[in-house]
Amino acid sequence: MFIDNQIAKIQANKFRFSYFEEMDKHLLTFEKSLLSNDIDIIWINNKSKLIDAVSEMMTKANYNKICYASKTITEEIKNEKKLFQHISAEDFLSDSDFPEFLFLDADYGIVDSGEIVLLDNPLQKKINQVNHLVLFLSIDKLLLKSAKLDTILYLANYNKEKTNFPTNILLISSAFNKIENKQFGINNQDLFDSKKVEITLFLYDFNVTNLLKDETLRNVLYCIDCGKCKTVCPVYAVKPSFSPIELLKYNAKLNLKNRNTLAYTTLCGNCNDVCPVLIPFTSLLQSQMKEINTNLYKEVSLNKAKIYTKRSRLNKLNNKFRRNLYCRRYFGSNKKLYNYFNAQKSQFYNVSKHVEEQ
Ligand code: SF4
Repeated sequence: MFIDNQIAKIQANKFRFSYFEEMDKHLLTFEKSLLSNDIDIIWINNKSKLIDAVSEMMTKANYNKICYASKTITEEIKNEKKLFQHISAEDFLSDSDFPEFLFLDADYGIVDSGEIVLLDNPLQKKINQVNHLVLFLSIDKLLLKSAKLDTILYLANYNKEKTNFPTNILLISSAFNKIENKQFGINNQDLFDSKKVEITLFLYDFNVTNLLKDETLRNVLYCIDCGKCKTVCPVYAVKPSFSPIELLKYNAKLNLKNRNTLAYTTLCGNCNDVCPVLIPFTSLLQSQMKEINTNLYKEVSLNKAKIYTKRSRLNKLNNKFRRNLYCRRYFGSNKKLYNYFNAQKSQFYNVSKHVEEQ
């Protein structure tokens, strides 16, 4: 599809930038389109408000039948057993049981067309069999134009072997009807009862606005959740709590208790090389270390200069003994990491040596 991935990456970076430059304005345009098409919209600023908003939407005091396939649904909501009766996705898909509400995570929203995008979710085909479809979308997952969706999907799903472009893309732009089952099978539209499926979109801001205010960190909002930075991160391979993007999004600066996690990075730059929206990981990690080290945690023994040069120093250590000493010094407190780095035989800090040029 795209001959030059680098051009596609630059394009993607630019249109992510355009969205965030005027995010407020674009969100209002999106809201207006949805409301004019009979889709309700509820703004949520933090996770604790979500449960109240969801409860308010329930039609009965007890045992609303709900099917959910959503990471946004919190444990607190799941534990509201008096309010909800959970219908599993398997039961719904096999028509063994029918929920009244279906909760799904949306993947993107398109500002110019007012569409909500769902990708490859098996429950997509059931959306017109419920009374109420509830969708969740983070405010950083909006694209300005539908024409940009192709590029984003291509970049998010491209890997060395092939492009796994989504096969089932659903665009929801207005309310639709549910066909009642009682006349099912009779091929005459007049004999069907139809009823409008209510659609509610929860548009949530869990930390997006905070990140946006930060001139340095706002770049991490460009993320399109492709997961590529994780797959090439040598630290993530042995320490899954260190995901390059999550570290920047949720931990760095905002949760300084995790400052020591920053010290694990090798500043290898692999994540820079693969990120399809060109997030400059290395410089962001460095700026976070600098800020934590210089302004707030002077007492912490993070030696900034050593950390900055870690990447090039590691690459020069071909001697087994010197490498061992180095690894013991920097990763000695984490056995898994120590073993991992110590076991590497050749240069292991530059992904372009291992991954086809993208
Ligand atoms: S930050 Fe990571 S998950 Fe997000 S787009 Fe870049 S490579 Fe993909």
